[in-house]
Amino acid sequence: MLIDGFGRTIDYMRISVTQRCNFRCAYCMPNTPMDLGDEQDDVPLESVLNFVKVAIAQGVKKIRITGGEPLLRSKIVEFIAQIYTIAPQIDIALTTNAFLLAPLAKPLKDAGLMRINISLDSLQKDRIFCISKRDGLEKILQGIEEACKVGFKIKLNMVPLKGINEDEIVSVLEYGIKRGIMVRFIEFMENSHAKGNIVGLKLPEILRFVQEKYPTKIFEKEIVGPATLFKISKENVQKALNVQMERDYTFGIIAPHNDDFCKTCNRIRLSSEGKLIPCLYHNNAIDIKEAMLYGDTDEILSRLRLCVENKPEKNDWNHNSISQRAFYQTGG
Ligand code: SAM
Repeated sequence: MLIDGFGRTIDYMRISVTQRCNFRCAYCMPNTPMDLGDEQDDVPLESVLNFVKVAIAQGVKKIRITGGEPLLRSKIVEFIAQIYTIAPQIDIALTTNAFLLAPLAKPLKDAGLMRINISLDSLQKDRIFCISKRDGLEKILQGIEEACKVGFKIKLNMVPLKGINEDEIVSVLEYGIKRGIMVRFIEFMENSHAKGNIVGLKLPEILRFVQEKYPTKIFEKEIVGPATLFKISKENVQKALNVQMERDYTFGIIAPHNDDFCKTCNRIRLSSEGKLIPCLYHNNAIDIKEAMLYGDTDEILSRLRLCVENKPEKNDWNHNSISQRAFYQTGG
């Protein structure tokens, strides 16, 4: 079992399989050159499996594959199938922008992937282009439809930005409601790689947009997740959208600027360069590449423990400070 210095059990690993991405989102990596290295720079996936085995033996229960854009990594389907073969009880998840998802949805499901989080920052073609520098809306929506069709558990992630997409908070929410998909709004986390002048909406502001149309009730803090959950009653949804609902609709807001955000943090991250990262905000990391390449189980375990021991208590976004960390390297 992995327990950090503040008594938190670490049982969730986020594994970035590449820092390359086919989008250049304003809040993430707008100024990064398109040719961001190639696959040779990434730790081979068979070596990452050496890490996965140790992590699972230490009680890790959930693994999320992320990036960059993880679907750019070749053999990603086979990698997921290998994790599933080693430990079918593990909850395997993926975070993607869905641009490449439609043809891969079925193979990913067959490989053992259980859930997918999909970034959806707008439902307008020109807005998606403005945010991500990619004419991607059609493919994103196809990806979502296909993922629904093959039976994935899906969540949609939107980062609301002032003057850019804040007026679409309700449309994205309703897109989720109509398909029975949970939407989660993520507060923009300030970082030195993002576009200089962008400003994100905080939890109360996001909620205000929703409440202009839907009365909401605070539901609970996700027990094992970072979001605060809110409910809209099925009667209110039915009245506004004229759709039949079996139960109330739940949506989430991820608010890392809140003081208690890190109390239940249960995760650490592995980057595609082979660095173990204890916190999304702070710049410290532990190199584990060689140990993974050599399959040195003892060294992997000792570095994993060191990373967990060094996990900071909190991020520093609650003091409005800017992180040096790049989201495309940590995987968000
Ligand atoms: N390419 C994939 C995607 O778009 O979902 C996975 C990688 S992306 C770094 C993972 C998540 O981080 C996405 O949901 C994205 O919206 C979020 N993210 C990236 N930069 C962020 C920032 N500065 N603030 C808040 N969320 C951010």
